[in-house]
This record gives sequence, structure tokens and C-alpha cells, in this order.
Amino acid sequence: MQETLLLDERLDDDAAAARAGHLLSHLLEKDALDPESATDCDAFGRAALEAEERAHRIEATLLAELGRPEARRDPSVAARAVVEAYLERCRSARGSRQ
Ligand SMILES: [Zn+2]
Repeated sequence: MQETLLLDERLDDDAAAARAGHLLSHLLEKDALDPESATDCDAFGRAALEAEERAHRIEATLLAELGRPEARRDPSVAARAVVEAYLERCRSARGSRQ
């Protein structure tokens, strides 16, 4: 299996390393994060929130280890924002507000 991590080139080395940890956790846990392929948006949202909270906690831990001030941000807030965007896409793909 070969996978490619896509990292924002605007990130500095520390932030890119922490983001890589976040993305690798999704890969290793085989998180299903494609909102357009979900059949049940509510179930998808619950699983996605759990996955994003885990990944954002890992990213925050790595940032803290690197002494970065943004490590103090609440990982749950970032995770919820990401999942809200996923849910918009899921509901749009389903053509409803389920
Ligand atoms: Zn994520």
C-alpha cells in the first residue's frame, strides 16, 4: 500500500510534523471521512467527530512537545469545526437536511 500525505506548504516544519501525526492517525485507524460517500449523515458525523477529536489531540500533543503556543488550543473546538463542514457536505450530497 502506498499513500501520500498532502501538507499545506504554508506550514513551518513543526506545524507540518504535527499535522502529519494527525493525518497518520486517520490513515492508521482507517477513518472513513468521505462525507459524499456516507449513507447516514448523523452516524457519519458521530464517527467523524470521534476520529477528528483523536487526531486533533495527537496534533496538539505533538505541538506541545515542540513547545508551540498553538498547542494550548482546545482540540475539541477544531474537531467540531471540521465535522460541521463534513456534515454540510454529507447533507448536500444526500440532498436533504437529515
Ligand atoms: Zn482530521
